[in-house]
Amino acid sequence: MIETNDFDLENRIVAPEVIKADTTDDVDLNLRPKTLDEYIGQDKVKENLKIYIEAAKKRGDTLDHVLLYGPPGLGKTTLSGIIAHEMGVNFRVTSGPAIEKPGDLAALLTNLQEGDVLFIDEIHRLSRAIEEVLYPALEDFALDIIIGKGPSARSIRLDLNKFTLVGATTRAGQLTSPLRDRFGVIERLELYSKEELCDIIMRSSVILGVACDKEGAYELASRSRGTPRIANRFLKRVRDYADIMGNGKVTKKIVKIALDRMEVDDLGLDGLDRRLLTMIIKGYSGGPVGLDTLASAIGEEAVTIEDVCEPYLIQLGFISRTPRGRCATELAYKHLGLLKDGQTTL
Ligand code: ADP
Repeated sequence: MIETNDFDLENRIVAPEVIKADTTDDVDLNLRPKTLDEYIGQDKVKENLKIYIEAAKKRGDTLDHVLLYGPPGLGKTTLSGIIAHEMGVNFRVTSGPAIEKPGDLAALLTNLQEGDVLFIDEIHRLSRAIEEVLYPALEDFALDIIIGKGPSARSIRLDLNKFTLVGATTRAGQLTSPLRDRFGVIERLELYSKEELCDIIMRSSVILGVACDKEGAYELASRSRGTPRIANRFLKRVRDYADIMGNGKVTKKIVKIALDRMEVDDLGLDGLDRRLLTMIIKGYSGGPVGLDTLASAIGEEAVTIEDVCEPYLIQLGFISRTPRGRCATELAYKHLGLLKDGQTTL
């Protein structure tokens, strides 16, 4: 397999976030499940939400505010849209960095109708000033507006329609506790199993009109890092290979050819993951090595390593996090074909 060192993170094929190649055309929107029953996996979260939604509907009330957290690409936005759909209300989408001024948030909140779902992605990136505006909105469905400046300033209270905030974050730990405390429902999304990803790929292949056999789907699932967004992206790329190199059908053989060419190995690791593991093993004798040291050694940002590489490498059992830093495990040595002293096995 050819290794390249120059990574263009925006185009990283195994990136769990949206990359340039992910189109937002109709097909992509169609891939998003619209009801809880269509949403594959995350059974615990689904069961809980089902009960909360039914109970709220029975009482004729709005749903409590919901916080969804977990790595990118696992279906937080999709699930939020489903909540709105199941509640039969409008779905408004924004994100932490998009709300720059308190006035931006006030405009959003005053436009909500009774029961609407407001989805704020990357909610940990809201500024303190905006959070302050959000607190009374979440608790009392009211906005406190300050008129004037200095000693003559006074505050008036504006009532809002009752709404449900769904916040999504990859880093629940970065949420301030007053904000976290205002969510009645807090759910963590987990990486998907291969079987669940297989079901997602088979569902997407039907929607996209791509012929895909079970073995092909399983091979794709094995390389998709537990992440539906990556699974769907791979399926679309592999379809091209199937059209040109095969008879249009996505099979195990075609998946292997396509993903090997994309430098994604049989466990879904790409060059960046391998570079990270090799650095711990060869540069730091297997660890422990601190996150910041590791990040500068491989020329990436610490947050990229933490959010993008580590969740999957930890799930595979290739990296362990210790108080003194990151360590590569024996499984990582084995996968890379390296001996304890960092030498390559024969
Ligand atoms: P997040 O908001 O967590 O980054 P998204 O909700 O945008 O993730 O999901 C990424 C893509 O993965 C979506 O386009 C959707 O098609 C697909 N997807 C996510 N979760 C599921 C699921 N449980 N079943 C089927 N498809 C899913």
